[in-house]
Amino acid sequence: MTKKSMRSAPMGIEEVVVMSGKVCGWIEVICGSMFSGKTEELIRRLRRAVIAKQKVAIFKPMIDVRYSEDHIVSHNQQKISSRAVRNTKDILKLAGDAHVLGIDEAQFFDNTLVEVCKKLADSGKRVIVAGLDKDYRGVSFEPMPQLLCEAEYITKTLAICMKCGNPANYTQRITKSSERVLLGATDIYEARCRSCYEPPNE
Ligand SMILES: [Zn+2]
Repeated sequence: MTKKSMRSAPMGIEEVVVMSGKVCGWIEVICGSMFSGKTEELIRRLRRAVIAKQKVAIFKPMIDVRYSEDHIVSHNQQKISSRAVRNTKDILKLAGDAHVLGIDEAQFFDNTLVEVCKKLADSGKRVIVAGLDKDYRGVSFEPMPQLLCEAEYITKTLAICMKCGNPANYTQRITKSSERVLLGATDIYEARCRSCYEPPNE
């Protein structure tokens, strides 16, 4: 029996035909530097699901309540309601019967996020994860590399270098702090291309 999936995949694949009739979820990862539009793209996909009356649940780490405690908000002020959770177990607990799950700022969760995303996708859910793939030193930001391995769909978003206008794949910290996690926006960070990025001296 041919069964059409209720959900649509990204990249113009409007519908997925599941030949076996088995329920099958998947993982989508949206990654890139700061100011590359990751959260905007996440919100865009989640909105489409809401318009199609699919059940959506959205999570972000408790650490990131920069703009709002109960919404994810992009730098251009688009927002969608979300729940701030302390750890990845809470995502499993609160996912409930949602068909589509959005997770923002994935780099602030620990590596258990990979298993949680796999479990959710295995149980038939569409899981959309957005996060920074590199920290301000240019070092890969776990658990993003592991999530990229597991993902069916990967979108790399690029910013525009704030110095020269080339495609920007790096996040330049423009203050002296050497903490890995330092929340902020244009006051602390700039998007930079390869040639304008200056790795910090530590
Ligand atoms: Zn540049």
